[in-house]
Amino acid sequence: MPQGAWVLERLLQRATATVAEPAGDRWRRIRLQTAGHLDWKPGHHIRVQVAPLSLRSPRDLLRTYTVWDYTEGALELRVFEHGEGPGARWARDLAPGSEVMFKAPEGRFTVRPDAPDHLFIGEETASVAIGAMARSLHGRCRALIAVNDVADQLPIEGDVQWIQNGTTLAPDPRTLVQAVASLPDVQPGTVAYIAGEAQTCQAVKRHLLHERDWPRRDIVIKPFWTPGRRGMD
Ligand SMILES: Cc1cc2nc3c(=O)[nH]c(=O)nc-3n(C[C@H](O)[C@H](O)[C@H](O)COP(=O)(O)OP(=O)(O)OC[C@H]3O[C@@H](n4cnc5c(N)ncnc54)[C@H](O)[C@@H]3O)c2cc1C
Repeated sequence: MPQGAWVLERLLQRATATVAEPAGDRWRRIRLQTAGHLDWKPGHHIRVQVAPLSLRSPRDLLRTYTVWDYTEGALELRVFEHGEGPGARWARDLAPGSEVMFKAPEGRFTVRPDAPDHLFIGEETASVAIGAMARSLHGRCRALIAVNDVADQLPIEGDVQWIQNGTTLAPDPRTLVQAVASLPDVQPGTVAYIAGEAQTCQAVKRHLLHERDWPRRDIVIKPFWTPGRRGMD
């Protein structure tokens, strides 16, 4: 066995896809039955092997997806159909019964349970994490989510404001910044969770820090992707 394959075997676990189907216009719903119990917190992601091991393109081997839910030993994912990358292709081609290799749930983009209030900001891909985290807060939170189309809205608990940005390819960071700017004052100590397209994440963070005097410690940020960059993690 090549060394790369041996390392992957030790790093990854096995699951079986039990559901792989469209969910709305541009989402794929994927359910992975796992063998044993996993430690999972809302907001955690998994790394999925989306292509066969190939030394030519190690960058295209793994992709990252948030766990939308984890129930009865099964991980639910929502994968946004955005193009022809290895992750998008994997999600589109996956069939029930297929074996899937993945790395156990992890990540620091999780709820701060002691915060007095929670504000989530992001776009389509971020809405998977926002949905899982908002559910764990029983909807006691606010969210500003930019989407290309109303058909891309996932069911998310809480006070959610959907913003049409008219694109999924290179969203204009100003759209979400303007939405944040028009928010009324928030309770001191509110934690802002920002995720999704990287340039938008940075623009929103700058706005919170410099225009709203938001304390740095109350901002949790996790860029998910950016135009022109493959397999960002
Ligand atoms: C912590 C974390 C959690 C994530 N959770 C989710 C999730 O739950 N669901 C989900 O769908 N994605 C999620 N993502 C994003 C996902 O990992 C990326 O979109 C990934 O790049 C997709 O891989 P790909 O092989 O399809 O495209 P890549 O080969 O990585 O990218 C090819 C090109 O496609 C474009 N592109 C990449 N992603 C997007 C996008 N989302 N929208 C528009 N254009 C894009 C870029 O121009 C890029 O250069 C998450 C990422 C991180 C880091």
